[in-house]
Amino acid sequence: MATTPVSPSLNRGGAFLISASAAEDIFTPADLSDDQQLIGQTAEEFVTKEVVPLIPELEQHKEGLMAQTLRKAGDLGLLGGGIPEPYGGSGLDKVSATVLAEKLAGYASFAVSHGAHAGIGTVPIVYFGTEEQKKKYLPKIATGELLSCYCLSEPQAGSDALASRTRAVLSSDGKNWILNGQKMWITNGGFADVYVVFAKVDGEKFSCFIVERGTPGFSVGAEEKKMGIRGSSTVPLFFENAPVPKENLLHEIGRGHIVAFNTLNVGRFSLGAYCLGGAKNVLEAASKYSKERTAFGKRLCDFGLIQAKLGEMAIRIYAVESMIYRSAGMIEAAVANPGDTSDKTKQAMQVFEEYAIESSISKVVGSETLDFCVDEAVQIFGGYGFHEDYPIARAYRDSRINRIFEGTNEINRMLIVQMLMKRAMTGVLPLIPAAMKLGEEVLAGPSFDESPTGPFAEEDRSVAQAKKIFLLAAGTAVQKFREQLAEQQEIVASLSNIVMDVYAMESCLRRAEKASAARGEAATATMVEAARAFIYDAIDRIEKEARTALAAVAEGDTLMTQLTVLRRFAKHSPLDTIPIRRRLAAAVLSQGRYPFEAR
Ligand SMILES: Cc1cc2nc3c(=O)[nH]c(=O)nc-3n(C[C@H](O)[C@H](O)[C@H](O)COP(=O)(O)OP(=O)(O)OC[C@H]3O[C@@H](n4cnc5c(N)ncnc54)[C@H](O)[C@@H]3O)c2cc1C
Repeated sequence: MATTPVSPSLNRGGAFLISASAAEDIFTPADLSDDQQLIGQTAEEFVTKEVVPLIPELEQHKEGLMAQTLRKAGDLGLLGGGIPEPYGGSGLDKVSATVLAEKLAGYASFAVSHGAHAGIGTVPIVYFGTEEQKKKYLPKIATGELLSCYCLSEPQAGSDALASRTRAVLSSDGKNWILNGQKMWITNGGFADVYVVFAKVDGEKFSCFIVERGTPGFSVGAEEKKMGIRGSSTVPLFFENAPVPKENLLHEIGRGHIVAFNTLNVGRFSLGAYCLGGAKNVLEAASKYSKERTAFGKRLCDFGLIQAKLGEMAIRIYAVESMIYRSAGMIEAAVANPGDTSDKTKQAMQVFEEYAIESSISKVVGSETLDFCVDEAVQIFGGYGFHEDYPIARAYRDSRINRIFEGTNEINRMLIVQMLMKRAMTGVLPLIPAAMKLGEEVLAGPSFDESPTGPFAEEDRSVAQAKKIFLLAAGTAVQKFREQLAEQQEIVASLSNIVMDVYAMESCLRRAEKASAARGEAATATMVEAARAFIYDAIDRIEKEARTALAAVAEGDTLMTQLTVLRRFAKHSPLDTIPIRRRLAAAVLSQGRYPFEAR
């Protein structure tokens, strides 16, 4: 299934920081094909009809029920999207896979179980498996006959996954890898049939193995008692002299980190999409409740402070949706354009690595947007939001894990900057020349030549200036700390926050521009306002983050000069965002849901 191609000039991960994009180059939800929308509808209907009615039993861990539900999803083809057609899957394009993930979010425990099976439990075999391994496992994983999981974390090795203590030693007859050790927090572990397990060969060479349920010496521990996603299975695994056939080594000895981290790149992107879907559902529930509940003789939704919450939720969801679909479009365009590579699998992996920055952004912004929305929704429900008889309490508990797994948000924030710096140092991304050019521009003083014009001139200017602010802050930090920048975690986090807001601002704006050009100003006025409000607030956040970073890097007159330049870059006209949020709330309330679906 092909998607709208994007300009090849944009096809570098992280390039959004230094190159200006055009609205027509951005994939947006309005570009979804009928087929892609149909995939979303099928997924949504499945969750509504087949999963939601089971929630009380799933939350109680009714024996075999989650596995059975996953298999039912498999019957409908909802498990094989990531598996190429020759191995029994549907080989969905990246945009369709994103829609699918988003629309499965109706029950978080199901979405997480789906992601552990069809995402991180499948990707290692699809991209790193031998032909025999693919033929043996993938067709059954696609239908759900075999359920899978991804086993990286250990009691002492979570974020620091390479500190793994699980060992693999070749048996004396050379036929088996003998595994010893323990894994922790394994989603789907309680019922899976196929376990993708990371262990160090001879205690040193980090590697990956396919382990089957029933392997002697391999046992599954009791379900963990969790704060949220209680319907999902999360267990420890134990390996005591467990023999794993030699041919079940996945990829190469000592190259397990390549399998682990590339898989997480894919998983992180999807996690953002699941969170996006969750946030839309929460907004819908909050909007509905705010119309039903009355206080002081009015409906809750008639109060300005409730409208402000609904409006802000819609703005943030709009931002994360714009980013995620823009990235999905870029990834798909790159995958669909193999260049001179004949190995499609290898090429797809290269693409996922190329967009690792955008994947981390999807994970961090998606999870934090969902957390913001569930928190505000609880507030709108008041005391009833705190009661387990209402679904918002569960959504609140379920949301929290997203900032922790698939690389905590702290780790992903650091990764975003580390990956950018690596790309800059190796010349893949010309960040250094861009920073030098900016230095010259700063020395030359203010210029009045190239001010953007048109209906989005103010926002266009803010986006361009935000990119300059990133270069100013990052350039100054790199000059001072060079290779040691990674140790200055607070500065790195500020830079990372700027990167994410820059991507969000531009994605919001280009989508609104594209929609406005296609459907006219009147039909897209609310979306344009969402973009304006997001950009207006983001530029202030960016200024604040840059001020924090610069103050930690420079001092005295140098700092004063840099802060003056920063103020100049961050200058923008005032915007009254209060009526904008009210109008956005009105749009949410009149449609009873997030108002920019597929627009
Ligand atoms: C419900 C659930 C399901 C899970 N599913 C799976 C699964 O299917 N497969 C799997 O392999 N794992 C799974 N995990 C494990 C999950 O990926 C880890 O919990 C996560 O990576 C964090 O590791 P940790 O818990 O050891 O925390 P730690 O690594 O100990 O981190 C604790 C805190 O310290 C911070 N921190 C750590 N290192 C640094 C650093 N260098 N700089 C700054 N801050 C740092 C972290 O950001 C975090 O805030 C799951 C976990 C849960 C709770």
